[in-house]
Formats: sequence, structure tokens, C-alpha cells
Amino acid sequence: MILPKSNRLAPEQVAEITEIVREFGCSIQPIVGAVRTIYAIVGDERDELMINRLEGLSYVERIDRIQSPFKLMDRRSDLASHRIRLGGVTLGEELLIVAGQCTIDPKNPNYFLETAAAVKESGAHVLRGGVWKPRTNPYTFQGDSKSIEILMEASRRTGLPVDAEVMDEEQLQVALDAGVHMLQVGARNALNYSLLRSIGRAVAKRDTVVLLKRSIHMGTLSEFISAAEYIAAFGNPNVLLCPRGTSPTLDGYRNHPDESITPLLKEKTWAPVVVDPSHSVGKASYVPACALAAVAYGADGLCIEAHIDPSHGIGDDPKQALTPRVLAETIAQCRQVWSLRHLPAAGRS
Ligand code: PEP
Ligand code: MN
Repeated sequence: MILPKSNRLAPEQVAEITEIVREFGCSIQPIVGAVRTIYAIVGDERDELMINRLEGLSYVERIDRIQSPFKLMDRRSDLASHRIRLGGVTLGEELLIVAGQCTIDPKNPNYFLETAAAVKESGAHVLRGGVWKPRTNPYTFQGDSKSIEILMEASRRTGLPVDAEVMDEEQLQVALDAGVHMLQVGARNALNYSLLRSIGRAVAKRDTVVLLKRSIHMGTLSEFISAAEYIAAFGNPNVLLCPRGTSPTLDGYRNHPDESITPLLKEKTWAPVVVDPSHSVGKASYVPACALAAVAYGADGLCIEAHIDPSHGIGDDPKQALTPRVLAETIAQCRQVWSLRHLPAAGRS
């Protein structure tokens, strides 16, 4: 929809916009109001170049898009009936819990193996374990490919599918060859389109699930959903959206908690929302409340850092990881909030 700066466009201006949209297979339909005339673009109005050219015209106030810029992930898409299954859970039917260490310590594999057993015991469905780590300071530990063996051993022992972040094509290949079930795209890479493209291509013919974190740099929700769409466009729509806190930071919290965007995402997309409360608030004592808030806001799942003995963890674990006891309590409470939100209609009255 083209909104002109004046009440209506002059005939030569209408001719100019008609000529532009025609190049993109569209036409113009004036909608005449008592005072103002606006101009509908009839056809597929998603082409960025067409919109940019129209927005560049001096007599155009703005363009309001009616069609969604993301075709596949849109709520109204045919894919909306697609259901993602992982760890015995169908997203949307039961609260999905992903839990485990931020970082696997390759020198002390028993910590991870014990964490894995405790995570399973707490009722989680997917085990997370950081093999390679993006770091705020590049000189700190960035992970070790040896940890992939520890991760897969924990998967075999517990029977849980596993989640690990990948940051480049080499790690992607190692993770897929090892049999990682869920690939995490971290907040620093969520706008790295060449990585998203590689992941999209690599998972196209698999049932791998991708957890896309919300970038620290992302502005609009459309940017987030479009990044998910870019992965799905190669053929595998198993993409989960993960708010994990964004900048600017608040005093006290590691990031600015953003679980409250869940209902806004759900208005736009069918993609399940799995919130990461650990990176959002960044301190173990704040994590349970953030997890509960996420479920209250309508999250379909949670990704929580947990460690058998946080003080002996590496990476984020000493400050963020929940102990197995707190993890189990948090999961139980979150399930209660989940069931409140999913009471059958009769039970609500
Ligand atoms: C992580 O999950 O450990 C991590 C580094 O997360 P993020 O990309 O959200 O910072
Ligand atoms: Mn972490």
C-alpha cells in the first residue's frame, strides 16, 4: 500500500509508480477516500528492490506492506500445520525442555556425563552441551572438537537427543557426522547468512532441528523470522526461535530479557518459540523466574544451562548453570504454568 505525502498523486506520479511496479509483475489500484487517496500494490509485493525504489520517490510518504516478507514461516502459510518433534515431544503439545552444560570440559568428561544423567532425571527431553563456544573475549577457551565424543557418549548413555552450537561449516559437518540432533545458531551468528545457508543446505534432507537464537543486533521481529525462513527455505522447516535476551543490557542482568516478545512472534509465525532464560538474565538465581515468565508468555519450550556442580564448570556454567535440584524444581513449576495456559476450555470457566 503506497501512502503519498499529498492527498492524492498527480497523473504523472501514478504513471511513474505504475511503471515501477509493472517491472515486478504488479499493478496499482487507487483506493479513493473522502479526503485522501491511497494506492494498493496488486500482486506479490515482497520484492525489496521494488519497495526501495518506491520508498525513494520524493512524493511517497511510506509503504505499508500487507503481505508478509516471509512466506514459509508466516502463520498463514501452508506450513503452519507442520509439527516439529524432538525428544519424544511434539512442539506445541508439551513443554519442551532442553538442558545441560554451557560448555563441555574436555579434560573432565565425567562432569558432563554426570550432568547428562541428572538432566535426564530432572525430566528434560534434550541434552545441551557446548562443544565449540563463541566467547566475548576471543582469548578465552573456545571449545574443543574432542568434546563431540563426550556429547555423543552422554547421548548414548541417557538416550537423549543432543543440542550443540556450530559456528562454521567445518563444525557443522563434524556435528552432523557425529549425529547431533539439534544445531544451535548462537546470538552472534543469527545474522550470518552464509552460515544459515550452509546449515539450511546441510539439514535439508534430515530431520535435524535448528535452534535459532535472537541476535544481539536484530531489530525487528521480521528480521528474526526472516533469518529462520532462510534456513527453512532449503527444505527443512524444523526451526525453533530462541529469544535469549538482547542489548541494551540492564544493570544486574546479563542481557535485556526478551521472553515477552513470545506473543508477538506467535502473531506472525507458526514457528515454535523456545526461550533461553540462562543467557537472558545470566545468573543462576534469576533463571527460574525468567523461565516461568517465558512459559507464562506462551513459550513452547526452554533451553536452560545446568551443571552437576556449577562451581567446577567452565564457560558460563559457574555463574549461570542451575544445579540438578533447582533444574528439577524449575521444570516442575514451569509445567504447572504450562498446564494453566493449556487448560481445556471447559476447565477455564
Ligand atoms: C550458549 O548457548 O552458550 C551461548 C553462547 O549462547 P548465545 O549465543 O545466546 O550467547
Ligand atoms: Mn552459555
